Amino acid sequence: MGTMTVALASPEEIAKYEVVIGLEVHVQLGTNTKIFCSCPTSFGAPPNTNVCPVCLGLPGALPVMNRKAVEFGAQTAMAIHCTVNPFSRMARKNYFYPDLPKGYQISQYDQPLAEHGWLDITVQPEGAEPYKKRIGITRLHLEDDAGKNVHEGFKDTDRYSYIDLNRSGTPLSEIVSEPDMRSSDEAVAYLTELKQVIQYIGASTCDMEKGHLRADANVSVRLKGATEFGTRAEVKNLNSFRFLKQAIEYEVARQVAIVESGGKIHQETRLYNTETGETVGMRSKEQAHDYRYFPEPDLVPVRVSDEWQKELRGQLPELPFDRRTRFINDYGLREYDAQVLTLTRDLSDYYELAARSSEDPKATANWVMGDLLGALKAEGKEIADSPIKPEHIGELATLIKKGEISGKLAKEIFPKMFAEGLAPSFIMERDGLKQISDTGAIEKIIDEVLTGNPKQVEQYKSGKTAVIGFLVGQVMKASRGQANPATVNELLKSKLG
Ligand code: ADP
Ligand code: MG
Ligand code: ZN
Repeated sequence: MGTMTVALASPEEIAKYEVVIGLEVHVQLGTNTKIFCSCPTSFGAPPNTNVCPVCLGLPGALPVMNRKAVEFGAQTAMAIHCTVNPFSRMARKNYFYPDLPKGYQISQYDQPLAEHGWLDITVQPEGAEPYKKRIGITRLHLEDDAGKNVHEGFKDTDRYSYIDLNRSGTPLSEIVSEPDMRSSDEAVAYLTELKQVIQYIGASTCDMEKGHLRADANVSVRLKGATEFGTRAEVKNLNSFRFLKQAIEYEVARQVAIVESGGKIHQETRLYNTETGETVGMRSKEQAHDYRYFPEPDLVPVRVSDEWQKELRGQLPELPFDRRTRFINDYGLREYDAQVLTLTRDLSDYYELAARSSEDPKATANWVMGDLLGALKAEGKEIADSPIKPEHIGELATLIKKGEISGKLAKEIFPKMFAEGLAPSFIMERDGLKQISDTGAIEKIIDEVLTGNPKQVEQYKSGKTAVIGFLVGQVMKASRGQANPATVNELLKSKLG
């Protein structure tokens, strides 16, 4: 048999089609213990040490719902505008998998925790204007995670697979979107916004490298103008934004090629190969009845009272979207800057403190996004480890605004703030980096410079006025960069007549 090559459509062919995407996103909820037992959820423990009869699926062991998992799920649901159902139920989803010792997953089926939400996203296509769009959310439900098959790390994994059940029973919420996305950029924007929201409310760290956030992409294509959706393929377990984008783009090119050559798309589950950038068929799509869902007999239904809902809603922090809007209105930021500064809750909390203590919040934003984030990146540090206190960045911008230091002096003060963690006003006084605006003091320096450079003064007077640049430079140098440049210019001109 020769190697199979998959035909991919050309950009011209792809341009005739519309892409339709719906995402199913799995989020590992940040509880300390598992969803139905009290084993720890900590990452990186030796294999099969965080286990007990419940998460090992031993016969007769009884699960008990983790209250915190319901709370994180409900709060996520509220943040994405879903209705939290006062009554929902866990269901058994039966299937065999070596890392699923129970022989079924405990999930939710016809009575999920929450339904009917939406999320507003900002899409940033390459080389085009950003735009906003609302993506519908079908449902959010709770379920337990499976264990892990281990295929590497032992000397005989060419013949054997190992099973680590530490992850078995870790709480997940699955968030299913409507098929509302029309490009890989929209899918990336949706996942970005969703991740941010979940991190803000603290329901999960969403650490994608550890698999705390992973997306299944349902992708189909149809001729532009068609009213019916095409048949979809589902690409499982995408755990980075780059892989999500690449997998969707590969799928689109593969599907369009099939449709263009008169073929049909099979509804199937596919895997993304991160090395080749291709998706490969794994199994034909299972139907709900294949799982023989039925209500979980070992767990009572989940009831979320009005009171509990109210309490949980009251604990929600300001969400990224609202915070961006407020930053734009209160601090005069541009949309893009507000985006950057709300990327994480830590960063937005930092900027908030800096801006509140500053007389120039907009300039403060530039110092945070430029010099501070740059310096942190160079040292591999996070904003939470910033050696500069937010109030001090605010003060730096204020000193410039008040004319106590020039932008140039501020650039000298900033690295000292970063190295020493001290206030800019303190460094300014200590190191004599204050801007001189006192006209008397500046005039004295100017007089010395003019006496010392008679040739240039002569040139200026004979009409070569460009030479004033040289004279300004001499005055600035003599003042060790501290003279207010605007004042120097003004005084020089009047002295030279
Ligand atoms: P299942 O439960 O079998 O996975 P669902 O109907 O719940 O199927 O849909 C799963 C996901 O697939 C949802 O995110 C939905 O928006 C998306 N989806 C459904 N139909 C299509 C389609 N034709 N093209 C792309 N995505 C789709
Ligand atoms: Mg599915
Ligand atoms: Zn356990």
